[in-house]
Amino acid sequence: MDLASYIRNIPDFPRKGVQFKDITTLLKNKEAFRYAMDSLATLLEPKQADIVVGIEARGFIIGAPLAYLLGCGFVPVRKKGKLPAETVSKSYQLEYGVSVLEVHKDAIEPGQKVLIVDDLLATGGTTKAVCELVEELGGNIVGIGFVIELEFLKGREKLQPYQIYSLVKL
Ligand code: 5GP
Repeated sequence: MDLASYIRNIPDFPRKGVQFKDITTLLKNKEAFRYAMDSLATLLEPKQADIVVGIEARGFIIGAPLAYLLGCGFVPVRKKGKLPAETVSKSYQLEYGVSVLEVHKDAIEPGQKVLIVDDLLATGGTTKAVCELVEELGGNIVGIGFVIELEFLKGREKLQPYQIYSLVKL
């Protein structure tokens, strides 16, 4: 299946000059959504992970069904102030300003094998912050998965030495 054909390009969103890749058109199609999740599961199954970490918000849509398919637990990484129990947090640079991501302190046991997933890899800044959070908790990152990778932004280089998997390279 040509998954790229289900991804919609929105020019000038969220601001002028950005070509936003909209995955809602993929998610609403039952064959494409199933194919995407099954393909990611096939790619990542050999990692034998314990935990899938999903990044708010679109990473939840991808991460939860993936965790279910792989027989893993699911851990949400959320924007600041959303998680109710004790957290560790990491601030990271956005194009304009900074943002803070958090995870529950007891979400990952030291030594557990962790997959990190999000819908899209752009510069890699978001995922890098999540890697730091996971490692602060003692998690062992065994792979990072995306539906879409924007290759021209070279996020993969920022995420060395982790193993990166993506379904659609644009
Ligand atoms: P990065 O930190 O790699 O530069 O940006 C990736 C993050 O921004 C991901 O959480 C992703 O959901 C979001 N993002 C950035 N650009 C796009 C886009 O064009 N489409 C979608 N769906 N998400 C994007």
